[in-house]
Amino acid sequence: MKYIPYARQNINSEDIQEVIEVLQSDWLTGGPMVERFEQTVADYCGVQFAVAVNSATSALHIASLAAGLHEGDIAWTSPNTFVASANCARYCGANIDFVDIDRSTYNMSVEKFEGKLINAQIQGRLPKVVIPVHFAGQACEMDKISELSKKYNFIIIEDASHAIGGRYQDSKIGSCLYSDMTVLSFHPVKIITTAEGGMVLTNRRDLYEKLLLFRSHGITRNLSQMEEPSQGPWYYQQLELGYNYRLTDLQAALGVSQMQRIDEFINRRHEIAACYSQNLQGLPLILPWQNANAYSAWHLYVIRLQLDKIAKSHRVIFEELRAAGIGVNLHYIPVHTQPYYQRRGFKWGDFPQAEQYYREAISLPMYYGLRADQQNYVINKLREVLM
Ligand SMILES: *Cc1c(COP(=O)(O)O)cnc(C)c1O
Repeated sequence: MKYIPYARQNINSEDIQEVIEVLQSDWLTGGPMVERFEQTVADYCGVQFAVAVNSATSALHIASLAAGLHEGDIAWTSPNTFVASANCARYCGANIDFVDIDRSTYNMSVEKFEGKLINAQIQGRLPKVVIPVHFAGQACEMDKISELSKKYNFIIIEDASHAIGGRYQDSKIGSCLYSDMTVLSFHPVKIITTAEGGMVLTNRRDLYEKLLLFRSHGITRNLSQMEEPSQGPWYYQQLELGYNYRLTDLQAALGVSQMQRIDEFINRRHEIAACYSQNLQGLPLILPWQNANAYSAWHLYVIRLQLDKIAKSHRVIFEELRAAGIGVNLHYIPVHTQPYYQRRGFKWGDFPQAEQYYREAISLPMYYGLRADQQNYVINKLREVLM
């Protein structure tokens, strides 16, 4: 059997045709196709404003800047995430702290979150920004987080890099019904792809205008935003220190085309998840738990090993699966244990649930194009390896 990765993109002939058409057009960089992509995603998610950028990392950065995160401020996120969810605060000179995870969803625990807020208020160290991560595509408990944001006055940036196509209660992920901004990723391993790419969604016009500035050098050509009179038709003003985080029209064309199939992608992911959950029962594993309030985008299918019932170590099982041509992966190494964050004062033991989870977790192959025979191979190999 050919190597089976844990994730991969699915590109069809329409996707290719859309990109070719842009190559033959007048615009290559950010132009009409970027606007169409933004509109397509905004309509799908049920949100007012969308700002496409060249990665979710850039999206997290400009969202943090738009939230007004500065040196001396504090942001909180989950330790069970990709490093970018924490790094965005550091780009702004702010401090980052973490909230340990829930033992069933592997998302930030709302109970621990509330406890930490109570302590932070006493110490005068409340966060300005909180970045909940919808791990594996399953939504965090946004109604509670949103309620707490009103009491403790922080801005919410949802990191929905795993979660476009999913729902929370009656709203689509990305609707920003329970948050100020939502960030999406279009990296090839995610739900839809633009090769590299990301987006910030919001219903707040003030944030939208800031996001547009930070995406492109802090420059405006809009007379109503200018601080001095225009000097002529060539004139623009730099109002903020922004970046060049623009997405290209080539990438946006791929994104628009991929959006046509998003529900098909998600449905297939649900089928794959159901097949794993059915066929892995009875093994010494903890299978993913699903919150009845949320409809997951199923970016990842993560199993946890019940190591007290298995003769082999986590590492040996992982290595045996890799040796069998299965590209299992591990999401995530707890961010606070990275050397960069240890140098900033964090240590092993700080977030025990995330660390315990890390010692047991394995991400199995999960993507739209995973064939039934490949999935059966994964299931059978896993059974063998666990014997
Ligand atoms: C992939 C990912 C990112 C970063 O996405 P890029 O588009 O690669 O910059 C950020 N946060 C999470 C949770 C991710 O999974």
